[in-house]
Amino acid sequence: MTIAFSTPFTYTSRASRIVFGAGTLARLDAELDELCIRRALILSTPEQRALAERVHDLAPDRCAGIFDRAVMHVPVETAEAGVKAARDIHADGLIAAGGGSTIGLAKAIALDTCLPIVAIPTTYAGSEVTPIYGLTDRGEKRTGKSARVLPRTVLYDASLTLTLPAAASAASGLNAIAHAAEGLYAQDSNPVMSIFAEEGIRSLVEGLPAVCRDTQDMNARELTQYGSWLCGTVLGSVGMALHHKLCHTLGGLFNLPHAEMHSAILPYALAFNLPAVPQALLRMERALGTDDPVSALHAFAHRIGLNVTLASLGVTPADLDRAAEAAMRSPYFNPRPLSERAIRHLLELAWTGEAPTRASFAGFDMSASSVA
Ligand code: NAD
Repeated sequence: MTIAFSTPFTYTSRASRIVFGAGTLARLDAELDELCIRRALILSTPEQRALAERVHDLAPDRCAGIFDRAVMHVPVETAEAGVKAARDIHADGLIAAGGGSTIGLAKAIALDTCLPIVAIPTTYAGSEVTPIYGLTDRGEKRTGKSARVLPRTVLYDASLTLTLPAAASAASGLNAIAHAAEGLYAQDSNPVMSIFAEEGIRSLVEGLPAVCRDTQDMNARELTQYGSWLCGTVLGSVGMALHHKLCHTLGGLFNLPHAEMHSAILPYALAFNLPAVPQALLRMERALGTDDPVSALHAFAHRIGLNVTLASLGVTPADLDRAAEAAMRSPYFNPRPLSERAIRHLLELAWTGEAPTRASFAGFDMSASSVA
């Protein structure tokens, strides 16, 4: 079978400038100048304060302060404190130096202030190329989309990822693969994003094992970062389906770690969906270089040290019933019709960690009549 060219489609390109390559951090001053930024607020986590200071020293005349209080899931209180810090120094731009949490904080501040963001990502989560933001209020996370939170410039400098430990690199990389894999069968998928997805997954599958073997391997770091850019772009351009829905449901119900949960669910979500979407299956086969991408992805996760199951994350069998019921409560797009029974079966497999096969969901109808 060959890739079919499907029409009609809508493709929205997002206006952001990507500056890629080891050492590009040195171009910060010139990039701030391009955006006419003269009083930037630099954002980081407390752990990455040293990076924020290094950023400041690269463009001292264009940076007016550091706010190092970024934490996971952007609590509203942190976002409000960030907005105040930006206003206090009359900031005219934001520099986010860090992973998805730091970039998420910049987005929350930009949502309120309309300040332009320059992102310097240090993980593979991909938030720097999406218009998606998230805010957590009293334990509840709400997400939205706005063009004003999309970073205007992204500096991808792989030397800044050398300090990311192997386990965190593996989990973050699999999170990126999940964005692209689901983008292949999203409701609004398009040929341009499918090319990005295939190339992004291929790059990550090649780069990540080398990164996990030797975290100082710059070639592998660059290839992995390149893949994460492509996969993040897919997340920013097209919608998602079953996999992301289950991760949001499980994360919300049981407060599970974001990236690890992706690795526990993805092989099973793909085992369920790919038989129903031959074109996406073909792209996955090409990206992984095998005619059994589901088994290959499961084995790949193990090879890079991700032996995560829902059981190992502390989920109980009773939780599986709750999650399946919650996932079916709010309808969402999925290329293969869903039923509570099918989702419960999927979660059961992800709970045990048993290797998924083509036959894992053979008993479940692929027609619309199977919707519960
Ligand atoms: P993170 O930003 O929470 O970082 C995790 C930890 O790693 C932090 O302590 C951080 O300081 C540290 N760290 C980051 N880079 C490092 C490096 N190079 N060396 C050493 N330590 C480093 O982790 P993440 O997975 O990048 O982000 C997760 C968050 O991003 C979640 O809240 C998720 O919802 C969000 N996210 C949002 C989008 C989007 O499009 N809006 C996309 C993906 C993820």
